[in-house]
Amino acid sequence: MTLIHAHTIPAAQCLAALDATHDGLTTAEANDRLTKFGPNRLPEARGRGPLLRFLLQFHNVLIYVLLGAAVVTGVLQHWIDTGVILAVVLANAVIGFVQEGKAEAAMAAIRNMLAPKAAALRDGNRVTVDGADLVPGDIVLLEAGDKVPADLRVIEARGLAVQEAILTGESVPVEKGTTPVAADAALGDRRSMLWSGTLVTQGTARGLVVATGAGTEIGRIGGLLADVEQLTTPLVAQMDHFARWLSFLILLCAALLLAYGYFVGHLPFADLFMAVVGVAVAAIPEGLPAVMTISLAIGVQAMARRNAIIRRLPAIEAIGSVSVICTDKTGTLTRNEMVLAAAVTPEGSFAIAGEGYAPEGAITPAGDLGQLALAAALCNDARLHRKDGAWAVEGDPMEGALLAFAGKAGVDQAARRLDAIPFDSRHRFMAVLTEGAAGRLTHVKGAPERVLRMCAGLDLDHWQTRSESLAGKGLRVLALAQRAEAGDSIDPASLEGGLTFLGLVGLIDPPRPEAIAAVAECRAAGIRVKMITGDHAGTAAAIARQIGLENPDRVLTGRDLDRLDDAQLALEVAGTSVFARTSPEHKLRLVTALQSHGLSVAMTGDGVNDAPALKRADAGIAMGQKGSEAAKEAADLILADDNFASIAAAVREGRTVWDNLQKVISWTLPTNAGESIVIVLALILGLALPITAVQILWINLITAITLGLALAFEPTETGTMARPPRPRQAPVLSGGLVWHVILVATLFLAAVFGVFTYAMDKGYPLALAQTMAMNTLVVLEIFHLFFIRNIHSTSLTWAAVRGTKVVWAVVIVVTAAQFAVTYIPVLQSVLGTEAVSLFDGLLILGTGAAFFAIIEIEKQIRLGLKS
Ligand code: ATP
Repeated sequence: MTLIHAHTIPAAQCLAALDATHDGLTTAEANDRLTKFGPNRLPEARGRGPLLRFLLQFHNVLIYVLLGAAVVTGVLQHWIDTGVILAVVLANAVIGFVQEGKAEAAMAAIRNMLAPKAAALRDGNRVTVDGADLVPGDIVLLEAGDKVPADLRVIEARGLAVQEAILTGESVPVEKGTTPVAADAALGDRRSMLWSGTLVTQGTARGLVVATGAGTEIGRIGGLLADVEQLTTPLVAQMDHFARWLSFLILLCAALLLAYGYFVGHLPFADLFMAVVGVAVAAIPEGLPAVMTISLAIGVQAMARRNAIIRRLPAIEAIGSVSVICTDKTGTLTRNEMVLAAAVTPEGSFAIAGEGYAPEGAITPAGDLGQLALAAALCNDARLHRKDGAWAVEGDPMEGALLAFAGKAGVDQAARRLDAIPFDSRHRFMAVLTEGAAGRLTHVKGAPERVLRMCAGLDLDHWQTRSESLAGKGLRVLALAQRAEAGDSIDPASLEGGLTFLGLVGLIDPPRPEAIAAVAECRAAGIRVKMITGDHAGTAAAIARQIGLENPDRVLTGRDLDRLDDAQLALEVAGTSVFARTSPEHKLRLVTALQSHGLSVAMTGDGVNDAPALKRADAGIAMGQKGSEAAKEAADLILADDNFASIAAAVREGRTVWDNLQKVISWTLPTNAGESIVIVLALILGLALPITAVQILWINLITAITLGLALAFEPTETGTMARPPRPRQAPVLSGGLVWHVILVATLFLAAVFGVFTYAMDKGYPLALAQTMAMNTLVVLEIFHLFFIRNIHSTSLTWAAVRGTKVVWAVVIVVTAAQFAVTYIPVLQSVLGTEAVSLFDGLLILGTGAAFFAIIEIEKQIRLGLKS
């Protein structure tokens, strides 16, 4: 059901047409309509089918080369080689297909976790519902930062403006109201309508759902959901590029080698060709891109388990490299479970007992707080309700605490709201005009320095001091005031100097214990933590002290920031960790100032005005619960639990992912280089091949799907959060990596030729010598894997030896496979192998151990030099 002409008729008529009321539908009616009209969801963009996805696995330069080789070997009737090559191709495709499917499923699951919520009226009460559950006739409440959840007819609007760029391309917000517009008005001119998917940038509204799901304007143009996240990051893209470039280089070398062997070495073409194919297959890191993608997908899932949801994949690398975290205070460092503990009125000071949001608790000394409590109750958008015996709040916890306080003071007065000025972090107060038993009253609550200035006949200095002494104890302080009213709207200008002061209240919002631990962890990890809050300097400093931030008493306020120019700010920002009474605009300046020091900045945010700072930050983090949709859209990462500890956990996982990508690269490249150089050298020197082409293909097949994959599953190394952050622009192919490739490839070469020569010298048949050389290569790769697992610390610990299930599983598979091809007669004839004696087997193991000892000693020396 959609109401097509909703924009042209008055709001009341729209309500009637949809059989709806100003106070929303009943739950029963909403459920009925949901079954009738279906969920408010856009049809899923159709993904690629499984067959296409499987075939795409073959769409890769390397695979073309391999398929070409298979054809030529087929023509030459080297059936075994053809079979092995095709097996390599198939195994790669199957692994790629399965893992890519898993990765896509993981991303899809995460998209579901980001499903939007909406505030609707059901049975006359404000409730939070899934956006998908909205039905035509529902009443939706909107405020700045919300994403419009369906097509709505505006029923009520206060200072409402909406950004409709996704529909109209126009990025300047459009003002909206209730007045009907002409039937033929363009979409962007229908001021009485709100379109699904657009963002509320200011004001509040009440809207009637007139179209849902595919019936909405955005649904009709089939927009939005098409933007499926690509599974790539800067590092993976760089490696992809590198792998492609490397493939061409290797093909070129292979061609030169073929020409050299044929014309200079006069080798028989068929054998030579097979050897060169072996070299090419050995050298190209065909599995690398897939394994890196898998590492990322595993990282995304690990972060989601720790309540950090990745919205943009590149953030997984960025979050691992942050050197400064700028965080909100309320709800992130503190619990955002507020309790109003103190009240100060011109009559005296009162302590308020009680825990949680229960409206029960003693006020000492007994006194009449009726007017203050009435202001607390009426200048309020939250609602308390009993859930499973406990009191819970729907809405802002601070306002919940005010309602609990009103209950304790015995105030429970219903009044009709006539007008309101919503809270805005720029003007820091909220005003509400109501009509009730006490008559028509405007109540104002807000930051003391703001509200006190609006009051008449006050000793400002006295009350400022009182307010600061509350703040110094870490309490969040609000001032409350009122005025009798005659009209039915609030004129903001008339509030200045026209209010009667009622009192101050102080709210406790204790720090989260896990945030204290996380701040300490960040410090150890060389990450500076800065608190950016809208709260008072005194409150902020007190909380900063409890949390363990550096220099908690050196506070810069928003006003200080306004006085500093960018250069001065850049100087000041480094040594300050507490920024108080800031507005969202300051966040952007702070990010820029920190980045000017070459720091990688993570910034949290929740409001609509935080979006620019979140976009600018290296890692923008939005709050999942408290955050507005606008902030979430701008963010790279969303905290499902709004908890600072989850940011630290995300950094740890981000560092793990980066390490694992490095490990995958550091294991793969030397392995490929070592394998291929063995054959190239033999060809150039005109020696017998120590490992045959088909054996090289076999090794590639078996190790790529086992050992190569294992590193993607590596857990976090101990000490990961005791290292300083990696530099912002750390290159992938660092000097260290190139050195590692050269060292390991050389050692591979020496070991394989060593064992091969030993066997030939002993007079073993060529096939046996080759079998030993091949097994040596596999043993070296296994030892190399154990070495790579601990690139930042020693591998000689019990934990390192114990390894992980994945590592031992792949080692067992590879070992079993090598035993099979060495000792089972059928396989011996396929791969041209012969049984190896126990003594020679031990010799091969010893060679691996010696290799391990050398690279481990080299690492120890390197780590020693560094520290
Ligand atoms: P943080 O950045 O730590 O989360 P914050 O976002 O809570 O802080 P703001 O929401 O900008 O900071 O609030 C700044 C000040 O405005 C508060 O200290 C309080 O004095 C006042 N304030 C906050 N919320 C309201 C409200 N709903 N009504 C009236 N005043 C408010």
